[in-house]
Amino acid sequence: MSSTIRDILSIFNTFSWRDAVDIIVVAYLIYTVINLLIHTRTGLLIKGAVVLLAAYFLATNLQLRTIKFLIDYLFRYGLVVLVVIFQPELRTVLEKIGRTELGRSLFVSRFGTSQQDSQRQAIDIITTAAERLSSTNTGALIVFEKETPLADIISTGTTIDAEVSEELIGNIFYKGAPLHDGAVVIRKDRIVAAACLLPVSHNLEISRDMGTRHRAALGISENSDAIVLVVSEENGFISIAQNGSIVRQLDKNRAYQMLTDELCPENQNGGEQLPWYKRILDNAKVSKQ
Ligand code: ATP
Ligand code: MG
Repeated sequence: MSSTIRDILSIFNTFSWRDAVDIIVVAYLIYTVINLLIHTRTGLLIKGAVVLLAAYFLATNLQLRTIKFLIDYLFRYGLVVLVVIFQPELRTVLEKIGRTELGRSLFVSRFGTSQQDSQRQAIDIITTAAERLSSTNTGALIVFEKETPLADIISTGTTIDAEVSEELIGNIFYKGAPLHDGAVVIRKDRIVAAACLLPVSHNLEISRDMGTRHRAALGISENSDAIVLVVSEENGFISIAQNGSIVRQLDKNRAYQMLTDELCPENQNGGEQLPWYKRILDNAKVSKQ
């Protein structure tokens, strides 16, 4: 008889109730961990840690070796596992830090005045185009990239990489044109892509009269620091979404002011008094106008 078979038989000979409990608990733990991985959220992390600590305590006292061995390993490599599991949450926190003044001065190089001038000019062209689209009730969705890279979003659409122009924006959103469905992404003073798919907000407080175009604008503004201009096909309203809030019924001048304040830092008013739209955004997480 080979030594392997003898080893296996010896395991059965020494099989005790402890081993049975050990196997059942390990199976349960594996099931729980898989469940955690599927439905994981921050609250569950705490529950999971408590269960693991309790299991470790029991395993040590009842000498359940396999469980103790597994939990030892989990604790040892747990940090890496947590970073992987909670990568989206960590990303959100890091992005929030990056958006603060400290983050900006540490990580973001302010681009030069001439670039800001050309971006301001691009915003002027886009808001003029939006006004025209609004007058013909043509739907539009325009995302302005800030510090959060929107490569994932851009990859869902068609690359354009063209200078901003009123004609091009009019053409893209012209009803029935091949790229009119979806969002345009603007980086500085260029149109990077069109027909991009945005994540839709699941905020239940969003007014019912806002359809998927406005929910998509809110969705990307919740998931990044992007600022989004929407023109409604239904009523021609121009709206701007930022940080999960939306301001509706803007005219060209207000839209221009809001966009330049956000996208051209030197326009900022030193933080002495919040601009009008910030006060509206601060008062209502999601506008229900
Ligand atoms: P409107 O006031 O213009 O009617 P709405 O908020 O009521 O806008 P819908 O009528 O559902 O929204 O608009 C549908 C259009 O919105 C689609 O044809 C598409 O162009 C755009 N859209 C919808 N969802 C997304 C998305 N996830 N990403 C990008 N664009 C989207
Ligand atoms: Mg609609």
